[in-house]
Amino acid sequence: MQNNLALYNSLSRKKEPFKPLHPPFVGLYVCGPTVYSDAHLGHARPAITFDLLYRYLMHLGYRVRYVRNVTDVGHLENDADEGEDKIQKKARLEHLEPMEVVQKYLNNFLKNMEKLNTLHPSIEPRASGHIIEQQEFIKSIIEKGYAYEVNGSVYFDVLKYSQKYPYGKLSGRVLEELQATVRDLEGQDEKRNLFDFALWKKAAPEHLMRWPSPWSDGFPGWHLECSVMSTKYLGNIFDIHGGGMDLQFPHHECEIAQSTAALGKESVRYWIHNNMITINGQKMARSLGNYITLDQLFNGEHPLLQQKYSPMTVRFFILQAHYRSTIDFSNEALQAAEKGLQKLLKATATLKNLRPSSESTVDIKNLQAKCYEAMDDDLNSPVLLSNLFEGVKYINSVNDSAEKLTAGDIELLGNVFRTFVFDILGLTDEGINAGDEKLTEGLMKIIIDLRQEAKNRKEWSTSDKIREDLKKAGIILRDVKDGVEWERE
Ligand code: ZN
Repeated sequence: MQNNLALYNSLSRKKEPFKPLHPPFVGLYVCGPTVYSDAHLGHARPAITFDLLYRYLMHLGYRVRYVRNVTDVGHLENDADEGEDKIQKKARLEHLEPMEVVQKYLNNFLKNMEKLNTLHPSIEPRASGHIIEQQEFIKSIIEKGYAYEVNGSVYFDVLKYSQKYPYGKLSGRVLEELQATVRDLEGQDEKRNLFDFALWKKAAPEHLMRWPSPWSDGFPGWHLECSVMSTKYLGNIFDIHGGGMDLQFPHHECEIAQSTAALGKESVRYWIHNNMITINGQKMARSLGNYITLDQLFNGEHPLLQQKYSPMTVRFFILQAHYRSTIDFSNEALQAAEKGLQKLLKATATLKNLRPSSESTVDIKNLQAKCYEAMDDDLNSPVLLSNLFEGVKYINSVNDSAEKLTAGDIELLGNVFRTFVFDILGLTDEGINAGDEKLTEGLMKIIIDLRQEAKNRKEWSTSDKIREDLKKAGIILRDVKDGVEWERE
């Protein structure tokens, strides 16, 4: 199977041709959410980025197994193994079972992902469903000599690992610097070095989420689940691992160390990271009051929002930037995206009614080639969109008879738009249809009222003409007991 796709590999820090290990199969693992709060704007970006990659790989003919985990245990408040488990803390605050918290926020996440038209992954494994596998993985790391047990907890020995393997190769961090920056915190005195990280933590008596193990009643460290579940479902070496840039360190760096220590080699061939979303130039944080959930974005109920934005507007907004660039969220940017999306969708509707000519004055094959080139260039969605807007210009010019297209080229252009706008960018025209539907309802009410007034004045010929003309337009009026109903033919 041939492809021209190049992807930026965070590990080599350059674009590399994408050559899957076992074509036509592709293994794709993406770090999913820790489900302890409503899905927010930050969740939308990785979901849409890897949905774009997933859709494009499938379009190229690959059979993709897309695994996205659900973190439901072990993610402590601070990435350096301190603080309360995020889910347990929420359970305490909301008086729920931890697994009720998980279900509640997973439902919210999945509902919003559906609204954003992201395809479901092939497998969504949960950390708590893979405790035995995680314990087995820890055992092999201990056997290889890269982990040690202290008081029922097991830690990864970063210093020992770094003597054989290059720790920090993904994030570019070096141990000496790490040593200087890691704070000396209470409860960390079990570790040989402050930069060591937990594979298994002994649970304190009040800790709710706990499982028996050879070391203690406890729970797995956050980084472990991804090493375990990725290799379980995709094999010890697999094609692509994705996630947000903020996960490069410590999460992905620790994953590389764990997998390499246990299996003797790196598991991941291409590391892909999406950049972050800022809000009016600031990082999103509850403390800054700019924390916007997807529910709020879609219903407009947040002090920072001037209006509600449709899921497709948000999707379009995110796709307007390359996934490795930052995006700054603002009302102005979202409103511009809304206009852009409407323009694109309107053109796809106009496309269906274009009249063919005997010759073409614009080159559609070239447009199609440029669309593929953009996607092949590390999923360059902004360039793809600018090519599609060139297509919009063609459509409008042909519609205004300023340019001409043959029937074959109109069909090809339709194909380009269906493929790239709907199948690959994953946009839908629900938004525009919903708007049209509302408009139609309003217009029909006006027409029916006017006909009723004509009838009241006994102007039968006018009321009959309205009925006949609507019928010609494909709309049937039916007199019922308390008024008039209408339906499409
Ligand atoms: Zn992960």
